[in-house]
Amino acid sequence: MDNESMSPEMTAELKALLLATGSVNIDPSLLPKGRASTAGPGAGMRSVFFNSGGKRVKLSMNSSSPFSIVEAERESGRVLLRKDGKTLAVGTIEPAPAHCPKQAFVTLSEKCIFDCKYCPVPKMQGQVKTDAEVLQVIDEVYERGELQAISITSGIEESMEGEVLRVLRLLPSLKKYDVPVGVSVYPTEKCSERLKAAGVSEVKYNVESMDPEIFKLACGELSLDYVLDKLEEAVGIFGKNRVFSNFIIGLGESDECVEKGVEKLASMGVIPVLRPANPHPLRAGDFTFNRPDQQRLLKLASMEKHILLKYGLRPDLARTMCLKCTGCDLVPFVDI
Ligand code: SF4
Repeated sequence: MDNESMSPEMTAELKALLLATGSVNIDPSLLPKGRASTAGPGAGMRSVFFNSGGKRVKLSMNSSSPFSIVEAERESGRVLLRKDGKTLAVGTIEPAPAHCPKQAFVTLSEKCIFDCKYCPVPKMQGQVKTDAEVLQVIDEVYERGELQAISITSGIEESMEGEVLRVLRLLPSLKKYDVPVGVSVYPTEKCSERLKAAGVSEVKYNVESMDPEIFKLACGELSLDYVLDKLEEAVGIFGKNRVFSNFIIGLGESDECVEKGVEKLASMGVIPVLRPANPHPLRAGDFTFNRPDQQRLLKLASMEKHILLKYGLRPDLARTMCLKCTGCDLVPFVDI
């Protein structure tokens, strides 16, 4: 259905505009019940998942946003996404009982010894979940009949290897749910081999930026070359379409750098997740963020699609984590 009709659906252009803006004004009474996000750059902020025409977008709640979501029909749960008095899309609000819809996406350690400048987790210094607490979160999603995948991530409480061991210790108790498991951690020696042997389906090791200078400024204590090395190793173990990497857009990198970076990752068999920078209030002043606008998001997603096609990579086949969710990014083959 197109946007001229009575029930317009979210297009790639509208999703890009929403991602560029990042927020929506919504009456909290329309929100399904769920836990606040504790993962990554959006940690701790209240957000909403709007689904329309098979596309999903995650927006933070902000009463001064130019976009608003209002109820259309109580019985069906339909809502309208509006701007300047016009309805731009009709859709639904999706429940996200554990970070995102249809998955239990759990952060094991909500604290981190590193200080990557775009990430609020080191500033929050939250809790470290026990295995029992993790299973309780997963059980809640399972009992609602919404568990299609389990995704695990973690800040670094004491050491990188400590987090890999924490995940490995947990994995046997996830088998009973019989859903694919995805893991996103900072990689360590032979971690892909060990995670695969323990039943993990997909991994995401984040490069964050493919501009070495920006990487150094943002994540000075970590090594981009090491992450790239481990990504390549992971493709050999998990196979094509099963290894992903977040690449933040809006840290000062050029489009040319993004294109070269996407080409390099794709040539290794890794699917990049082009993630619009999301400046968190806890990081105000720590780094110069340049949230990409609608046109840049569309241009980079089209470029990525072209490159992924060349290497036979398909983000729409992902079974876990961000490429299954798609809420934060314009995803080739799903959105565009
Ligand atoms: S795309 Fe990833 S970070 Fe964003 S809401 Fe979904 S799972 Fe979370």
